Amino acid sequence: NYDRTLELRIMPYTEGEYLMVVRDVSQVKQLEGMRRNFFANVSHELRTPMTVLQGYLEMSKDPDMLIGPMWDKAHGVMTEQLSRMNALVEQLLTLSKIEAAPNIELEETIDVPAMLDVLEKEAVSLSGGQDHLFTFEVDKSLKVLGDEDQLRSAISNLVYNAVKHTPANAEITVRWFLSSSGPRLEVTDLGQGIEPQHIHRLTERFYRVDKARSRETGGSGLGLAIVKHALSHHDSHLEIQSTVGEGSTFSFTLPQRLVAKAA
Ligand code: ADP
Repeated sequence: NYDRTLELRIMPYTEGEYLMVVRDVSQVKQLEGMRRNFFANVSHELRTPMTVLQGYLEMSKDPDMLIGPMWDKAHGVMTEQLSRMNALVEQLLTLSKIEAAPNIELEETIDVPAMLDVLEKEAVSLSGGQDHLFTFEVDKSLKVLGDEDQLRSAISNLVYNAVKHTPANAEITVRWFLSSSGPRLEVTDLGQGIEPQHIHRLTERFYRVDKARSRETGGSGLGLAIVKHALSHHDSHLEIQSTVGEGSTFSFTLPQRLVAKAA
């Protein structure tokens, strides 16, 4: 592997002799780079709505500027930008909370069917009368052990993504059932699908296939990073299957040992 960063130190050892220490600092450098990138991304994401808000604040100094329809437009745009900032901060907090708790106890019994019931209503409302066609096929008796907040974050991000990243009228099917390997969630949408070269990068923080569209739909680019971490804490991982023009399935299987015994 030629792609390494080495740090060389030469220090006096004994009379006339020197000690040469070569340290491989590739990983440290890589982590530093990731940290820098992360902060640059967060700043960039916050700067855009802040600039818009600042612009309208400047305009509001002139009493003749923001009146009538202009005020209505300004109010709408400011509300939208503020909610974008809110969503980003919310997702950042969720991600940092999840990352800070790698060794959680998987002891809570989670009523996933009840969770999906609430999510179905939220998804319909997020779809905003655009009439996505939802089908929820849920094994009502299948509860699992785990961390409720983390699993809710994982499942809701997958369901919301299906709504946000598919056009109106796309069919969305959510299935929760006991597969031969363990409890399994599948979120399938008959949307536009994702080109193969993007798929392995989707769980990176701030990675989006279409930045403009993701922002338009209120996306922070952190959703799938949250899903990845939450699932890894449950000894599971995200599977993504997608065909351009046909749609995508985002799914995961929890280990069999996390099936909660019926009370
Ligand atoms: P975002 O906040 O943009 O939704 P995510 O991390 O949740 O961020 O998703 C990353 C990107 O993956 C999205 O911006 C989108 O390009 C793509 N994506 C996620 N889910 C879907 C889906 N169901 N169909 C098509 N593209 C998707």
